[in-house]
Amino acid sequence: MNKLLFKKIIAQTSDTPMGLEISNAEGCYIFTVNGKKYLDFISGIAVSSLGHNHPRIIQALHEQIDKHLHVMVYGEFIQKPQIEFAQLLLEQLPSSLEQIYFVNSGTEAVEGALKLAKKFTERTKLVAFRNSYHGDTHGSLSVTGRDVYRDPYLPLLPNVSFDEFNSNSVLDLIDEETAAVILEPIQGEGGIIPANKEWLQAVRKKCKESGALLIFDEIQSGFGRTGKLFAFEHYEVIPDILCIAKAMGGGMPVGGFVSSSEIFQSFKYNPPLNHVTTFGGHPVSCAAAHANLKELLSGNYLNRAQEIENKIKSNLRGKGIIEVRGTGAMLGLELETKDLTEAVVNHCFEKGILLGWTLHSNTLVRLAPPLIITDEELNFVTDTILDGINNYF
Ligand code: PMP
Repeated sequence: MNKLLFKKIIAQTSDTPMGLEISNAEGCYIFTVNGKKYLDFISGIAVSSLGHNHPRIIQALHEQIDKHLHVMVYGEFIQKPQIEFAQLLLEQLPSSLEQIYFVNSGTEAVEGALKLAKKFTERTKLVAFRNSYHGDTHGSLSVTGRDVYRDPYLPLLPNVSFDEFNSNSVLDLIDEETAAVILEPIQGEGGIIPANKEWLQAVRKKCKESGALLIFDEIQSGFGRTGKLFAFEHYEVIPDILCIAKAMGGGMPVGGFVSSSEIFQSFKYNPPLNHVTTFGGHPVSCAAAHANLKELLSGNYLNRAQEIENKIKSNLRGKGIIEVRGTGAMLGLELETKDLTEAVVNHCFEKGILLGWTLHSNTLVRLAPPLIITDEELNFVTDTILDGINNYF
């Protein structure tokens, strides 16, 4: 296989794909067919939190594959991997988050959450934030706050109002016509911007007063990445609907949205079957999700995310660095210029470290290592980043 064939027959989303030809992946490393080894410091974009091919996940996959693959569209049959995962997950969540609807991806979780909010409230207005990212299907793009990605696809969903993240003016936007407010407690693609705690609590209060549902998109921040199982735990704010995906499947595609049985009730009637999916909650993906969550809860991973934050923040200081922000292992390194950022990412790539940008920013390096990374590996990465900066100046 070669890059020309890849570029010819696989539809491209940019002119500059990384184009690594993968042979296998294990732990923190990805190996290419020409024998190069890369330390994955972005975890396949916040997916492989337990590293690649975790043995417990692989074992669970083998066991499920031997039993059955797809058997029926969503919601009709009782499938053990779905039940086991859902039970373990919901036990970790506040009691109002008591049911999960399974989908296949992050953007589908957002689509489902928006539809659920509209159906339950019988309202259509949505409130969202600038610089947010919720996915690339039409509904999710309608609440994504970046015009450059939206403009080519207008018109999108009507009745969506945007405000600045962390700005109190949004409290005036949320009213009796609002079906839902959707936000990432820590904006990911927008540049790793954490919500301010008092602000988030005020948004929660305003939603409650006006009957609007509060949707948290924890597709990137969920499953331990920030040092808690979910980022909302840092804020003492409970959403009405929680969207999850990415790290949920331990490397397999699966997503979901979680809410109360009262809210989910509205999916059952007028008409019945008004939100269905063929593959949502695929048994093989759910078996992986269950093994992933069991492992995440039994190990030292959440503490490790905190240690990773402390170490990276103390190591990365000096010339060219504006700041390292974020929580746990969901961090962003803001550098002074786009050219410097490009030089640092390229230098690390040459030294066998995968770093990446976020979608909405070109001066921010995404730092999202697997939670199994060692101190030695962390030091290697931060030293290499600092070398990259020094070489540039
Ligand atoms: N929401 C957030 C916060 C995300 O980070 C992403 C993916 N980067 C999505 C939604 C979309 O997820 P997916 O790519 O699985 O559709």
